[in-house]
Amino acid sequence: MMNYDVIIIGGGPGGYVAAIKSANAGKKTVLIEKEELGGTCLNWGCIPTKSLLRNAEIVRSLSEGEKFGFSIDRIKLDYEKAYLRSREVSAQLVNGISYLMKKNKVTVVKDTAKFIGKKEILLTGSKERLTGEHIIVAVGSKPFHLPILDYSKPNVLDSKKALQLKRAPRSITIIGAGAIGMEFATIFQSYGAQVHIVEMLPRILPNEDEDISTLMEKEMCRKGLKIYTGTKLISVENNKNVVKVKFEKDGNPFTLESEMILTATGVCPNTKDLNLEKVGFITDNRGYIEVDKRMHTSIRDVYAIGDVTGKLTLAHTASAQAMCVVNNICCKCGDELNYDNIPRCTYTVPELASVGLTEAKAREKGYDVETAVFPLSANGKAISYGDDTGSVKLIFEKKYGQFLGIHMAGVHVTEMIWGAAAYLKMEMTVDEMTQVVHPHPTVSEVIMEAAHIANGEPIHI
Ligand code: FAD
Repeated sequence: MMNYDVIIIGGGPGGYVAAIKSANAGKKTVLIEKEELGGTCLNWGCIPTKSLLRNAEIVRSLSEGEKFGFSIDRIKLDYEKAYLRSREVSAQLVNGISYLMKKNKVTVVKDTAKFIGKKEILLTGSKERLTGEHIIVAVGSKPFHLPILDYSKPNVLDSKKALQLKRAPRSITIIGAGAIGMEFATIFQSYGAQVHIVEMLPRILPNEDEDISTLMEKEMCRKGLKIYTGTKLISVENNKNVVKVKFEKDGNPFTLESEMILTATGVCPNTKDLNLEKVGFITDNRGYIEVDKRMHTSIRDVYAIGDVTGKLTLAHTASAQAMCVVNNICCKCGDELNYDNIPRCTYTVPELASVGLTEAKAREKGYDVETAVFPLSANGKAISYGDDTGSVKLIFEKKYGQFLGIHMAGVHVTEMIWGAAAYLKMEMTVDEMTQVVHPHPTVSEVIMEAAHIANGEPIHI
């Protein structure tokens, strides 16, 4: 039986960051990963989608040649090359994590872990047992499957299968208009697919501020996406080469036919085989492990981080939770995480980035809410770049001008949301935000311009 100071189960952005921090703090650390280091994020999530989206961006730019003064007679698109590039990018980053584990003297074990006691783990492959003073569960999540569909069919996809396609579909119906569904829609549409995107809720990107999600819907429809909101899936008929899906909107049935169907209707936690109930973990009715603000589970000295906690299922949430937990293990400093300060990004065209409260949430919380809106069409860098679509909406409280949240659609907004997250963390007022000098010309100036409007002193509008 091997004993460790810290055992970490799962090598995604939660688990591997926890491992580096823990080993760096001098703890004898083991990381158990049953598949590849990097987890969903590096292998089947954030990274391969962004690689394919970069290809999609280049394809779109080439099709805009006339605007920039060049013409190309015929562009030959090779989706397989885009796919191969996405796998190379993932592999490069996964190798990088392997290197970091060695450099930081983390013991990595390739096996499947299972609890056999509150502080005791069984490796189901080697049958070895490990005990740990502290255990961090970072097992992540997998795509949720709709029971109505048979995912063993080649034309029925979840996000992982979609990332393994070697050719773009000619047509595809995507169920779910959250970030993942919209990103796949952007990729496949750029490669010529006819894309239908269906959402049960009344609007796309339903967790985002209503005005920004409305703007996104308008822009994406303008680019040719067929979007059906407030629409319920009724039945699916899958012949070899065509999927016929029956939907209902406002009581009216209709059918969409496409070559493939992709569901992007959320994720579910990887907790099934961990034996959690037997050792006394409290999970919610969907199987997510319940944790407090410091990621303690119901078992002393056992923590959970990342998607398996069902908080804000994003890679940087997992990493932030990891750092919080290890700080608390090492120095008992009582670190807590405020999920309201975590940015959210969707890498579509236009991009969407937000942090803090939406207007509706701020009202719900009882704030006397005001908003300030600045369009990208008044921003020099966006105009010079050739894409001034989009807008920024700043949410603040009326009496003291406290900054509560920001919601942006437009080019490069995912690269600048961290700045707004810093303002939020520092609990700035809109007046203080105007005093931060933003470089010119940058798209980031839109944040400062919106703060000027909020402060009652608009400049470039
Ligand atoms: P994971 O990354 O899922 O890692 C968990 C690891 O645990 C896995 O490697 C798994 O093999 C391992 N494991 C599970 N059970 C066991 C066991 N019993 N024993 C040993 N190992 C085990 N987030 C963003 O922030 N930005 C994005 O742009 C983004 N894009 C995404 C696109 C897609 C298509 C998808 C599906 C997700 C995307 N996400 C994105 C979400 C992001 O990937 C996850 O939030 C993140 O990977 C969660 O990290 P994690 O460490 O909790 O779990």
